[in-house]
Amino acid sequence: MLKCIKGGRVIDPSQRLDGVGEIWIRDGRIVESPTADASADVVYDATGMIVMAGAIDIHSHIAGANVNTARLLLPEQHRAAALRPDRTPLSSAGWSTRQTGRDYAAMGFTTVVEPAVAPHTALHAHLELADVPIIDKAILCVLGNDDYLLRLMRDQPSAAHVCDYVAWNLRATKALGVKVINAGAAAAFKANVRAFSLDDVVPWYGVSSRQIVKTLQRAVVDLGLPHPLHVHCNNLGLAAGADSVIATIEAAEGLPLHLAHIQFYAYGAEGERRFSSAASRLAESVNAHNNITVDVGQVMFGQTVTISGDVTRQFSALAKADPKKWAIIDGDSNGGGIVPYNYRKTDFHNAVQWAAGLELFLLIDDPSRVFFTTDHPNGAPYTAYPDLFALLMDRDLRAQWMAELPPAAMAMTTLASIKREYTLAEIAVMTRTSPARLLGLGDRGRLAPGARADIAVYADQPDKAAMFRHAALVFKDGDLVARDGRVQTNVLGRALTVESTVDAAIEAQMRAYYQQTYGLESDLLKVPANALGVPEPFEAAPCGG
Ligand SMILES: [Zn+2]
Repeated sequence: MLKCIKGGRVIDPSQRLDGVGEIWIRDGRIVESPTADASADVVYDATGMIVMAGAIDIHSHIAGANVNTARLLLPEQHRAAALRPDRTPLSSAGWSTRQTGRDYAAMGFTTVVEPAVAPHTALHAHLELADVPIIDKAILCVLGNDDYLLRLMRDQPSAAHVCDYVAWNLRATKALGVKVINAGAAAAFKANVRAFSLDDVVPWYGVSSRQIVKTLQRAVVDLGLPHPLHVHCNNLGLAAGADSVIATIEAAEGLPLHLAHIQFYAYGAEGERRFSSAASRLAESVNAHNNITVDVGQVMFGQTVTISGDVTRQFSALAKADPKKWAIIDGDSNGGGIVPYNYRKTDFHNAVQWAAGLELFLLIDDPSRVFFTTDHPNGAPYTAYPDLFALLMDRDLRAQWMAELPPAAMAMTTLASIKREYTLAEIAVMTRTSPARLLGLGDRGRLAPGARADIAVYADQPDKAAMFRHAALVFKDGDLVARDGRVQTNVLGRALTVESTVDAAIEAQMRAYYQQTYGLESDLLKVPANALGVPEPFEAAPCGG
């Protein structure tokens, strides 16, 4: 069947396209416009509308062990359990697998990455993601606090062996990439270490956080993985955090590295309250290093829950739990911490955090190297994205928000002085073109012939938050899945993984290690393709080299 979206303003930075045009679709893919006399079987009139590729979220905690602990800890926050009239911000994010896929689709999102899955919980995460409708999903596999790697680095450092181990984990967990969370800190936490910086050393193993990051970064580069090592730096939430991020950027030595939710590090100790924004200093460092990409982890106001594998950080945040309950899991490799939190407009620190995130977006010059996350749900639920895009596109709107926040907090940031407004094309770069490139997903994020027909059409209107909240038309693989923000189907998306070749020797080594250490078969970690209950659910992106 031949379909055509006609009359809309097509914005596709990958082709430097911004103008009224047509998009033709056949068999789930975008195709060249046929001859002038060809007629489509179905025509969608997009006059007065914006046509973009489907949006891609590179970092959103939507599945896995820690997310489920949060669900169990806070039943009163979900929609289904909330038999009370007032909706909470978290209830708007749904929390159920079904609602997650539907909410994302309604906003024009077609691909989402769950960025923090410990290898031992990969099967669970994939099963849960398989139940999220419409969107395509992927996971990042978390390494860097695991006994095998740390022993390897201590006893017989060999780059090839580390590569084999990383490839084995990727294959076993069917992940799209590798993440490291506060490298070494969760291992050190077991020895009662409660603060951990880049040059601190993990007890027993004698390896530093810096060595772990660099070792994993090298392995990711040597394996030719499309997605750079995804790093959650040391000292999240602390005034020392900005220095940790800058030191990690310097340590990358020009090799690709992605730094997650850097707003949570963009703090200094200026002013009477000894808390200020250090966003301009961080942005300067990112601007100076082309090998670095970042996502922001924007804070928006309201009730949420922080979910993190950074057990050290979460443990130190327990006193701020709101409501007063929490869970800390000192796990087998990476632990986890679930701490509910309420970001308040009247709170000095929260207001500085909000401003620091926006400063990062607006002070990092290249929109292809800064990504729009809220680190869902840590800074805010993903349902806050439309408001965030509107704030980036409109300085008057930012001024209105700032007028409601404590002036003393605003004085600790440069936000009021920033005039920049994102254009729609820059929003498309940040939400479509660049995330596809960053993840190595060449089949999406663009509207060129050959690309997957994942397409979002928005009614152009002055209220950009309203525009992005309810897409007028959303296509997944060429099928119309949502109209005017209402989802029409619960069709299932696919799971995206990366092709990695695994050396035969590492199989035997992993089998022996699991037997000796845990009395378990290493095969228990492996995610079998048939586990998801549908034929061939996994689609592999190739390694580049
Ligand atoms: Zn995160």
